[in-house]
Amino acid sequence: MEVRRTAPVKLVVPDERRDDLHETARQFRYCANRASEFCWSDTSYTECVTANTTARDGLYDDLREETGLTANLVQEAIRRGVQAVKGCVERWRQGKRVSRPEFTSWSLLYDKRSATFYRNKVSLSTVNGRVECDFELPSDSPTPYEEYVLSEEFEFRASTLQYDAVDDEFYFHITTRKYDCDGDDGGSAEVSADTEHQTVLGIDLGVNSLAVSSTGTFWQADDYDHWTQEFEKRRGEMQQRGTQAAHNAVRRLGKREQAWRKQYIHTVANEVVTEALSYDCDVIVFEDLTDIRERLPEAKWHHVWAFRRLFEYVSYKAPEQGVSMEQVEPNHTSQRCSRTDCGFTHDDNRHGEHFECQKCGYETSADYNAAKNIGLRYARKRQHSLRSSPKSGSGDAEVDLRINGGTLNGDGYQRIAGD
Ligand SMILES: [Zn+2]
Repeated sequence: MEVRRTAPVKLVVPDERRDDLHETARQFRYCANRASEFCWSDTSYTECVTANTTARDGLYDDLREETGLTANLVQEAIRRGVQAVKGCVERWRQGKRVSRPEFTSWSLLYDKRSATFYRNKVSLSTVNGRVECDFELPSDSPTPYEEYVLSEEFEFRASTLQYDAVDDEFYFHITTRKYDCDGDDGGSAEVSADTEHQTVLGIDLGVNSLAVSSTGTFWQADDYDHWTQEFEKRRGEMQQRGTQAAHNAVRRLGKREQAWRKQYIHTVANEVVTEALSYDCDVIVFEDLTDIRERLPEAKWHHVWAFRRLFEYVSYKAPEQGVSMEQVEPNHTSQRCSRTDCGFTHDDNRHGEHFECQKCGYETSADYNAAKNIGLRYARKRQHSLRSSPKSGSGDAEVDLRINGGTLNGDGYQRIAGD
């Protein structure tokens, strides 16, 4: 049985940031209403969309472009719209009178990524960067951080930020849940993931391929490049004509190209998640994309675009399948030898698509080598932190990386002969 708790906490919002929260709530409401419109059908409840994934795939990109909201807030807003429509469909099915849900109230939904807890404050995503708000608490009460974040009993789920217009105050409603172990569900599925064995899939975003997994699957860029060129060629031809009709045609083509591009990356993202599931991976690890433009000066603009989208898409699709997403520092993942007994790092190890270690002679595809390094970096980091943590403290904590034909653990011990 799941036990949920909600605790309202008054926030001290800096005066100069209050407008940022109001604007964030306005845009959040806009997104929720767009989702409600997208899902609704006046004709029949059977034509309403009730699957979050359908709504999100159809709206996410547009809403990210139209608003200043972060990825997680856009997703929460879409989810809210879908939930409301779902509720209406249920009542409609029972023969009750319903109309399309409309959002008018001031309310923002924060998840673990868009709200970060500190001992005495919380940092919230807004359309204008993060805002830090102190908790206003009676002096003798435990802070939400102590009560929920450090709690082993309750798990932080999500929080709703609400604005009380009467007294002009912001309240943060923190929702936690706990599984009652005596209940039927047993709660075993919810034991802290921090000390669990993990299996990792590493993903490299390459110059040669769009993505390569540590299991040796390549998502080639050929098709994607080919169609991008075709679109560019068509656009060039139309632009030369210079007429209004041609101008309109160019705009239509641009829209079609955008739609095609997104669809393509959605497909790759789905396949990446499927790859993780089929190898029983709990975690997908990407490199940090922050400076990718600088790190891959040779990458074409449409590849950089594809990398960012792919990362975004996978980071919302994977958790729905119970797979989490992590990122690691990208330094030298291409130059380092991924043989765990070697690890030699040198610029000369890599020649375009080919990797050849100058020390041990290991030869493989450069992108595959990098994908293994990305997964290994996460595995080592986690193994290290698990062992030094007073909580687990044991040497049993294990993190495995799935590679082509086998598994490596964070210590470099290869369980099954691989590549
Ligand atoms: Zn080597």
